[in-house]
Amino acid sequence: MSAIASGDLEARLREALGADRIVTGADDLEPFLHEERGLYRGAAKLVVLPRSTEEAARAVAICAEAKVPVVPQGGNTGLVGGAVAGAGEVVISLKRMNRILAVNAADFTMTVEAGAVLETIQNAAEEKGCLFPLSLGAEGSCQIGGNIASNAGGINVLRYGNMRDLVLGLEVVLPDGRVWNGLRALHKDNTGYALKHLFIGSEGTLGIVTKAVLKLFPQPLDRVTALCALDSVEDAPALLISGKARAGEALTAFELMSSFALGLSCAHCGNANPIDGAHPWFVLLELAGSQTAEALRDNMEEMLAEALEADIAKDVVIAQNLEQAATFWRLRERIPEAQKQAGASIKHDVAVPVSLTAEFLREADAVVSQALPGTRICAFGHLGDGNIHYNLTQPQDMDGREFLERSKQMNGIVHDVVDRLGGSFSAEHGIGLLKVAELASRKDPVELDLMRRLKAAIDPSGVMNPGKVLSAI
Ligand code: FAD
Repeated sequence: MSAIASGDLEARLREALGADRIVTGADDLEPFLHEERGLYRGAAKLVVLPRSTEEAARAVAICAEAKVPVVPQGGNTGLVGGAVAGAGEVVISLKRMNRILAVNAADFTMTVEAGAVLETIQNAAEEKGCLFPLSLGAEGSCQIGGNIASNAGGINVLRYGNMRDLVLGLEVVLPDGRVWNGLRALHKDNTGYALKHLFIGSEGTLGIVTKAVLKLFPQPLDRVTALCALDSVEDAPALLISGKARAGEALTAFELMSSFALGLSCAHCGNANPIDGAHPWFVLLELAGSQTAEALRDNMEEMLAEALEADIAKDVVIAQNLEQAATFWRLRERIPEAQKQAGASIKHDVAVPVSLTAEFLREADAVVSQALPGTRICAFGHLGDGNIHYNLTQPQDMDGREFLERSKQMNGIVHDVVDRLGGSFSAEHGIGLLKVAELASRKDPVELDLMRRLKAAIDPSGVMNPGKVLSAI
């Protein structure tokens, strides 16, 4: 650790917060050093577990005075190494600040501590007849603070927007230990710069989110889920357009899966593909809202009948009950796990305008197959948002490590296609450590300069999650 000996810092933190707020033993540290994708390993020797905003602020102030960097950590499910702490850094974990402070069904708001697990928040909303719509594969362990810091997306963005659209107010511990109280439950507040938006998506580089006021929605009365087979990916945007035209806001999810991706997941989950026959692409779509189940089902049936008639869809299955719908969703959500079993992977979380998704997939497939024949392309994602997880699985006859050595080259060629189509090389997972170089080389220089100035203004000593998003100053 930099300015003062680690022992002194530990003693000061123990004295200020109490011994039970500090973790230093090797076994106890282990969960905080783990990194979801196994690309990094944390090396922190000290973790602080505050129970309140005041404790978090005190810990940050002590570290700031000692010029020791801090790394905010939520559920540690992020996919770009944003919560990985180096040997000289202190992890501030929010896991003990996990209370639901208030659910206001009249205002459709919920106030929570940042360490509340996403699924707990969804359940607390449901108990009051409301919906908190953020939903993603890691919802059983990711925390709302992490979702806010990474501006998480997930499967309902099409209807409800991403995390940025779901936050009304925030409380944040700043890098010098001061607390910004922006915990307002207002839909309208034009009193100057919208500071909350700086912290949302900043990946813990500007401050530690300690509380949030979230937007809730009416709980849909019912939902209908269907799986649809396509013979060409060009048909996916056409199906989306007809779905939006027919169902409007009731169309809440529109997920694309290649047959390779769905096949891996079926094998992993021990399920047969719900649709017989060989089709290269599948779409999982869902209608939900205030209509009755019958009306939603009629709407879905008419929409899919039109798609079959127009030759956009080749085959369709509508889930007959909640259990079957859950099976469809499990197949979609288990793709990343299933892909792990198939060998090493090089992943891309990209976005392009929705109307260009087919063009992206065609061009990217061509450059990847030319650069490394035999690469198995595991493409899936939130097509309704133009967000494709364009993942590459190692060729069967190639060593995994050798394949991963090609990461830089493969990232380069895929992201060049994304750039050509006016897209983003990181749609929802963020930058973390993994994409710092990519950001530095691809972002508009003026935008990068503004980002650096903002970082320097809010964190002049560079102690808040240094080296993430922007290279350390
Ligand atoms: P962490 O991993 O702990 O941290 C993530 C970043 O946020 C780090 O930079 C960290 O420093 C910072 N951070 C954490 N807490 C705070 C805080 N309180 N204040 C300030 N900074 C903080 N993402 C999507 O967007 N869409 C998906 O569909 C999706 N699916 C996923 C599926 C799986 C199976 C997995 C493993 C991950 C998935 N993700 C997805 C990644 C997603 O970013 C994370 O799951 C989640 O949003 C991160 O929350 P976390 O609490 O785990 O944060």
